[in-house]
Amino acid sequence: MKYEPIIGLEIHVQLKTKTKMFCGCAAHDQGVPPNTNVCPICLGHPGVLPVPNEAAIRYGVLMGLALNCTIAAHSKFDRKNYFYPDLPKAYQISQYDLPIAINGSVEIDVPGGEREHVTIGITRAHLEEDAAKSFHTHDGSTCVDFNRGGTPLVEIVTEPDFRSSKEAKVFLQELRLIARYLGVSDADMEKGHLRCDANVSLRRLDEKGDVVGERFNPKTEVKNLNSFRHVERAIEFEIARQTHLWESDTPPLISTTRGWNDTRGITEEQRSKEEAADYRYFPEPDIPPLALTEIADEMRMKLPELPSARRVRFATEYGLKPSDARQICDDPALADFVEAVFSELDSWLRALPEMEGLDEEALIKERGKLANLVSGWLLSKLMGLMMDRGIDIRTSKISPENFAEFITLIASRKINNTTGLTILSSMLDNGDDPSHIMEDKQLGRMDDASELAEIVSRVLAENPAEVLRYQAGEEQLLKLFIGLVMKSTEGTADAALTKNILLVKLKAE
Ligand code: ADP
Ligand code: ZN
Ligand code: MG
Repeated sequence: MKYEPIIGLEIHVQLKTKTKMFCGCAAHDQGVPPNTNVCPICLGHPGVLPVPNEAAIRYGVLMGLALNCTIAAHSKFDRKNYFYPDLPKAYQISQYDLPIAINGSVEIDVPGGEREHVTIGITRAHLEEDAAKSFHTHDGSTCVDFNRGGTPLVEIVTEPDFRSSKEAKVFLQELRLIARYLGVSDADMEKGHLRCDANVSLRRLDEKGDVVGERFNPKTEVKNLNSFRHVERAIEFEIARQTHLWESDTPPLISTTRGWNDTRGITEEQRSKEEAADYRYFPEPDIPPLALTEIADEMRMKLPELPSARRVRFATEYGLKPSDARQICDDPALADFVEAVFSELDSWLRALPEMEGLDEEALIKERGKLANLVSGWLLSKLMGLMMDRGIDIRTSKISPENFAEFITLIASRKINNTTGLTILSSMLDNGDDPSHIMEDKQLGRMDDASELAEIVSRVLAENPAEVLRYQAGEEQLLKLFIGLVMKSTEGTADAALTKNILLVKLKAE
């Protein structure tokens, strides 16, 4: 019997607003002592009134739109009751039956996966306040820091549409990127900006791949996964654990909640899943209902180009390979850089005399050639040089204008790969423009035929034995001669011209 994993995710994204969800306290806990960003509202003192943060509502709506959701015309907040030290009011203000956004979808590509292109349904997205952070000291007491208490979150619930841990991970990475493109969250999992619960169940399939028995079976919810690795490992573990249960004829009969123990690499039973009724949800009486139509219209205008659209555009408009376009668009700053580089290159291309009278199609073709140079020099060479120096595109001294000019020098063969690398390093270290460096260091291509011919003659005269061997049939020695010419010209010799001169001279000798 084959078992198919069914997976759904619940994700909390911390919104990057200045203030908390329902009070004026600063909404960050970086670099401040515990329990300083607090006030009577977020500490849940009696008689205080929560006031919803409009910026958080806008961010939530923007997120809903980016996930292709319908934004609710009318929404409201509810109280979710539970008793725990990290929740001073003994209820969390959340949303129950009227979330801000419903019925969305996100498309992901899973290269090498069993399904390469997957659409994930988004059940809902709602706003809520975060709980405080509790931690345990070495002497066994528990401390609570209320700085995080009341900070705004958007919770996103997906349909059970994933069929592998890889799909879940790719989706989370896409969600992180979307949040960053929107500027609503840094969505850094390590810093707890993005937290995930994974729901996993199995179902049996017959040989034809049809479902045997119930459409869905009781699931296990694995709580609080806070790195992509944990998400992947926890899901893999659950699939293995549940497969074993099915194979021993003891499939899970009820839904349960488990926690991920990363040290042991296992999930551990926590408690039976609470029914929604346990939370005794009821409408928050202190906050009027929300009318969202106007905000939704406004945010729709502000919706930036999303990563998926940008990838497609970088491939079609600039002629970048889809995999290169993906790598570039995964970093918004790098994508902006590349965008500026292509705009420079376009002006350069259009001004070339040989482009005169040529149509748009010819331009696209030329742009495609440049695209290969850009991705090659950017993704392998420049990235490597920056990595060596511990910097990235945000902190580097290379401007898009200078990088574009560098590409034109390569494209017009004024410099070659060897000198190119020298110039690029120098650009990175000094922020100079490449033509300037080329002239300064005399790294321009040497294509003076008579000068090159002299150097070739000298190289051949210095290596008589190799010349004889070449003439006796060892033609691969040509590479050695080219290398020696390159060496004596510090890499500036025009390779094609050098080869031609060598071939002529070797024949004549
Ligand atoms: P609960 O009642 O436990 O909150 P929901 O129906 O609200 O469950 O779903 C919560 C999450 O669990 C969603 O992401 C959903 O896609 C996922 N889910 C629901 N049923 C299953 C199932 N049988 N197997 C795996 N995931 C599931
Ligand atoms: Zn406060
Ligand atoms: Mg639920």
